[in-house]
Amino acid sequence: MAPNQNIPPLNDKSLFKQECYVNGEWIKAKSGKTFEVKDPGSGKLIGTCPEFSKEDTDEAIKVAAAAFPSFRKTTGRERARMLRKWYQLMVDNAEDIAKLITWENGKPFADAKGEAAYSASFFEWFSEEAPRTDGDTIPATVSGNRIFTIKEPVGVCGLITPWNFPAAMITRKVGPALAAGCTVVAKSPGETPFTSLALAELAHRAGIPKGVVNFITALENTAEVGSAITASPTVRKVSFTGSTGVGKLLMKQSADTLKKLSFELGGNAPFIVFDDADLDVAVNGAIACKFRSSGQTCVCANRIYVQKGIYDKFAAAFAEKVKGFKVGGGYDEGVTHGPLIHDRAISKVDAHVRDAEKKGGKVVVGGQKMSELGSNFFQPTVITGMTMDMQLASEETFGPVAGLFPFETEAEVVEMANKVDVGLAGYFYSSNLQRAYRVAEALEVGMVGINTGLVSDPAAPFGGVKDSGFGREGSQQGISEYQITKMVTMGGM
Ligand code: NAD
Repeated sequence: MAPNQNIPPLNDKSLFKQECYVNGEWIKAKSGKTFEVKDPGSGKLIGTCPEFSKEDTDEAIKVAAAAFPSFRKTTGRERARMLRKWYQLMVDNAEDIAKLITWENGKPFADAKGEAAYSASFFEWFSEEAPRTDGDTIPATVSGNRIFTIKEPVGVCGLITPWNFPAAMITRKVGPALAAGCTVVAKSPGETPFTSLALAELAHRAGIPKGVVNFITALENTAEVGSAITASPTVRKVSFTGSTGVGKLLMKQSADTLKKLSFELGGNAPFIVFDDADLDVAVNGAIACKFRSSGQTCVCANRIYVQKGIYDKFAAAFAEKVKGFKVGGGYDEGVTHGPLIHDRAISKVDAHVRDAEKKGGKVVVGGQKMSELGSNFFQPTVITGMTMDMQLASEETFGPVAGLFPFETEAEVVEMANKVDVGLAGYFYSSNLQRAYRVAEALEVGMVGINTGLVSDPAAPFGGVKDSGFGREGSQQGISEYQITKMVTMGGM
């Protein structure tokens, strides 16, 4: 049966905005063009958003540049207060933010509430970092000289984020940018713009000065807006979260103006279970890591490697849990897993399953589209007997498919884990202390989870290596992505 998706009205209806937020005002595209945004579960229209062009984007960049000279002069303490206020407004309106996330992204309401709290925590964290952007005093090697450094905001930042975490991907960038004293133009994802526009309304209520945060939207004109941001000499920093292909394009486009860049790109996380792991803990960890947001997170387990001694037991316990999932509209009663974002996502997931089957994998749970629910639903799937020649081994599936690969030795599994172009997160379960260090050091990734399938924390540096990008979000390092270090030498002492 198709999802009911009876999302009740927002407690505060004025959080639902269908215009862009530029210079403290709600505006339309100059052309008057809009695009439609649909609920990925029911396919019903949610609303429309302005189709911004290069001209509209240039205007938003101009506004952010005009706001920068006075915003950079505010003290860290003043910026901390603004971010803290914005944080508190997010906490106070968390239920409405979660409703918007479920509506436009499809994830179950409980997960959306988790995202609302997690996304707000970046404003809390960076409100605490804002007053502590210390430089250094450095003993000079030249006699009579004195050296010190100043941390300065890099300037106007262009921020581009994906649909899978409509709130958190934005606060993870805007929080440190504002803490550092930068102003921003944030392009929201075409699939999930309404959550970010609600955040813009809360920024307004928090008293963030006009022009400091600007939220713009586009769907068909996405590439045009991306070019406007990357080509602009005014924009000094681009922070992008999304696919590796688009990241590489934006990097090329940014070359002429030599911008500071951070890229959080695609993953293909290995999740390794050694014979000496606690089986129940590993099964639960793998379930959470693989199927959160129906497998649509960049740090999702994509390749689950299980040592031969416990492979059968693990596969049986894991499959049993997956059989208990209930798929449907994110707001429907008892639903544990929602739709995928669009039909292209369904096609990719289906292709990975069919390819694994053709090459000898055995589908033990799911494996099919759920057309009876709508065009964007796929059965949570478990495949055993996976091998490294299958598509799922080298490509990020970004969907609810768990492929279980058997392995024999630590050396073998480390080699398999590293045999991909990307390196975002990697996980392993073991009770052997020496192995914990060895494998953590051997995995070619930016983040490692040992005996846990969840690594995100505003206090921890989040980011990848290889084709998963560079730069770190969250933690003390997160703010440095939005700063320059100016060195001052004074002579003649
Ligand atoms: P995507 O690259 O297609 O889109 C991401 C964002 O870029 C969207 O806002 C989109 O509108 C915009 N975009 C697309 N083409 C553009 C262009 N030419 N110029 C400017 N902007 C452009 O990615 P997606 O499919 O929306 O998201 C899924 C991908 O994001 C996955 O690969 C996932 O692993 C990755 N991701 C990575 C992280 C991380 O932190 N590393 C987090 C979430 C998602």
